[in-house]
Amino acid sequence: MLQTAHESIKNAGKRMGLTQKEIDYLIQTDKEHEFEIELSSGKKFNAFRVQHNNKRGPYKGGIRFHPEVNKDEVRALATLMSFKTAALGLPLGGAKGGVAVNPRDLNDEELEELSRMFVRSLHEHIGPDKDVPAPDVNTDGRIIDWMVDEYEHLSGDTTKASFTGKSIDGGGSAGREAATGRGGVIVLRELLKYLGKSNEKITYAIQGFGNVGSFFGLIAEKDHINWTMKSATDSSGGVASEELSPAEINSYKKTGAKLSDYIKGSKITNDDFISSDVDVLILAALGDAITEDNADKVKAKIILELANGPVNEKAYKILTDRGVIVVPDILANAGGVTVSYFEWLQNRAGEHWSEEKVNKMLDEYMTKACKDIFTVADKESVSLKEAAFEVAIARILE
Ligand code: GLU
Repeated sequence: MLQTAHESIKNAGKRMGLTQKEIDYLIQTDKEHEFEIELSSGKKFNAFRVQHNNKRGPYKGGIRFHPEVNKDEVRALATLMSFKTAALGLPLGGAKGGVAVNPRDLNDEELEELSRMFVRSLHEHIGPDKDVPAPDVNTDGRIIDWMVDEYEHLSGDTTKASFTGKSIDGGGSAGREAATGRGGVIVLRELLKYLGKSNEKITYAIQGFGNVGSFFGLIAEKDHINWTMKSATDSSGGVASEELSPAEINSYKKTGAKLSDYIKGSKITNDDFISSDVDVLILAALGDAITEDNADKVKAKIILELANGPVNEKAYKILTDRGVIVVPDILANAGGVTVSYFEWLQNRAGEHWSEEKVNKMLDEYMTKACKDIFTVADKESVSLKEAAFEVAIARILE
């Protein structure tokens, strides 16, 4: 994933005529914090926070809890955050954190202890004007609330603006939980408009019907009657049918059940998913979902990178050579950090905005970012990914 991120920067930088020094500057990370967390039970975990660039504002980005977290991955994700916030025009930089842990192996007390200890090791380096973490894979409002509480004890800061993605009672923003999925729906809507396909019926498939993917499906089902979901997967497997209801699948999953046990439709594997006969693949699971090993199986004409780094560099080349449009993660999944920015603004001003206001502003920011990126793509005859990086690079170097 790190290589994919670096290639994206280098390719765009070269086309823009940047010097090697400028490209090196865009790639290099400012600070890398690496530490070990030992719980009172004796269990030990490696933890990271990489701060990539803060020239446009405080470092910003999530913290993930996942067994495969490693320094290179956190570096890649931190780098992508700087380009994501810049592509959206937010006055923020980029960072990412992670702990190499499977949270399913921990009980609630251990999870809380881990969350608090992460902050204890890092508190001097974070804060409302320094670095503002948020949720990411396997982290949520409950975990962020523990972190905020720990940070308040250590720093005395009571603004709650040190973290975003908090629970609503803990100072979070309306609309934050659904924001990444909602942003994805807005981006797909704008892309179809740009392609002159707004009124056509489209079919789609979601990989990773979880925190992000489920909201994409729910909002798409409500706002776009001519979009039909034909398959969905989670970590257990998936289902396919002529038509699936995201709302029904969501209620089913809320009971704690797995998609592999879903009674409707036929069962599919992840390989079947990649070759789904749909117009759009929504990749909302993990990185490297499509690589050079399976890119040939893709039948869809559009791919939305709702996760971070789901299409690697080689697969990206294979797909774009075939005319597949890949909407890059730094645009497609930027809805989350955009509402994080609104949350940070609300905390600093001591305000609480309505969900209607948040959603309307999210729509405006995402639509503007799409227009900026589509304009560059048209003008320079480059892909959306190249255009998104060009827009972001120009803003960071400014
Ligand atoms: N983890 C999310 C992302 O990758 C959100 C980051 C944030 O809100 O700071 O964009």
